[in-house]
Amino acid sequence: MTKVVIANSVGIDSRGKYIIHSPSRWSVGVEDEMDWFTYYPWELAYLSSLLKRKTDAEVKFIDGCLKKLNLEHYLQSIIKEKPQWLVMEPSSRTIRDDFALALRVKEELGTRIVLAGQHATAFPEELLHQGADYICIGEYELTVVDLIKGLPSDQIPGLYPNGRRPLLDVNQLPYPEDDDVSRLDYAIPGEPNCDYVEIQAYASRGCPMSCTFCVARNIYYGHPRWRGRRVEDVVAEIKYLKQKYPRMEGVFFDEEEHNANKGFIMELTRAISKEGLDNLRYNAMCGYWTLDREMLQAMADAGYYKIRVGIETASEVVASAIKKPIDLRRVYTSLSLAKEVGLKTYGTFIIGAPMSTRGEDMKTIGLIKRLVRDGLLDGLQVSITTPQPGTPFYYWAEERGFLLKQNWSRFDGGANAVVSYPDYPKEEIEEVFNLASEVRDHMILVRKMREEGMGRLFKSARARYGGWTALRKAVRRMGRELDYRRRLHRENKR
Ligand code: SF4
Repeated sequence: MTKVVIANSVGIDSRGKYIIHSPSRWSVGVEDEMDWFTYYPWELAYLSSLLKRKTDAEVKFIDGCLKKLNLEHYLQSIIKEKPQWLVMEPSSRTIRDDFALALRVKEELGTRIVLAGQHATAFPEELLHQGADYICIGEYELTVVDLIKGLPSDQIPGLYPNGRRPLLDVNQLPYPEDDDVSRLDYAIPGEPNCDYVEIQAYASRGCPMSCTFCVARNIYYGHPRWRGRRVEDVVAEIKYLKQKYPRMEGVFFDEEEHNANKGFIMELTRAISKEGLDNLRYNAMCGYWTLDREMLQAMADAGYYKIRVGIETASEVVASAIKKPIDLRRVYTSLSLAKEVGLKTYGTFIIGAPMSTRGEDMKTIGLIKRLVRDGLLDGLQVSITTPQPGTPFYYWAEERGFLLKQNWSRFDGGANAVVSYPDYPKEEIEEVFNLASEVRDHMILVRKMREEGMGRLFKSARARYGGWTALRKAVRRMGRELDYRRRLHRENKR
């Protein structure tokens, strides 16, 4: 019987960084194990379920990120399975280690290497030339199924060099992999910014927007189309998960735009309440532009406790360049309404995007300060806008000579700028990013100290991470706060 191994990225890279792999967004590496968490690798997980149901192959799903495996340990785990096929989904951030691993498996066993996802879609020829056997472009699950079934390769849409496959029907998908790995193991309390033990699930795919930096929209789907699942199926999945994992406290809907369609959210929230699942806590990736009082109230009534929205920038120049219009009045209204109905709010922001300058990014830092100060944001994330290969942002930067030639592992929005603009060089982008991160930490800390006090803050961190990690986090946090205050002091003296 044909044996297929589906493998998530290497968990610890050759520089010793812990990989937080999110290939349809941005993968990052973190220095310190206490900052580690992991996303459920949902597309590989759907692929695994599909292969188990639609082919005769013996399928094994292995997650090097979840197990925190370095290349050598990961290699042993895969070789033990003796696969004829190995499927991986590397991002540019992880391609070096992931591809090295795949080639070692091929060298040892003669395994056929199938690469899918962001980096493979951007550089199919190069990877085939370097030893990959097949490249699946865009949304790849059904392409891999056809390949393993043995269909002639020139008749498989989505298999390079054939063109893209039409987007799949999300209602034809089984539940994603939950046997070889447990979905509960990804529900790490406190991460990724979850307040409860939340299983990651997906009620929809896609987004009606067309941001130039977006990997999911541009590379995976190639289309601004939003696809909602049947509400009864989403609710049945939540029930199944709760029955299987009584410890589960909630669901994190980690899709592109959970609320792109108001009718869908109204129907879903009604169904959640009707089925008695409103005693669970829900947290969802949303767009702020469709949020209104009725929708937010329905979400709060159904057990939602947090919404996460991509605000990105306060600069109209940047917003226009990234093709994500900014409407600050709408941001304020949506977040105010969310707070009025009792929801927590989390925002994401970017620094160093196309057409940004220090001045434009300082507007974004100003917005962050105002939103936190006014009690409209409970948490936030700041990233350096990374031109992931395959996105319009990447080609825009490349054509203008703004892209720095460096190794792929630096395509990590958590640490490095890989573009340098004539009026806003790399070093300055990184400096402004560090400032934005310090401002974020300071503002959130001040607010939490005011609302909860040091004692309660530490107690809840201890419950979430354990005593030793909570203590280390607290010491580091205080160090950062001192750095921020020293910086302010220096600037005030100037
Ligand atoms: S709004 Fe978010 S998901 Fe939609 S295209 Fe923009 S970045 Fe992608």
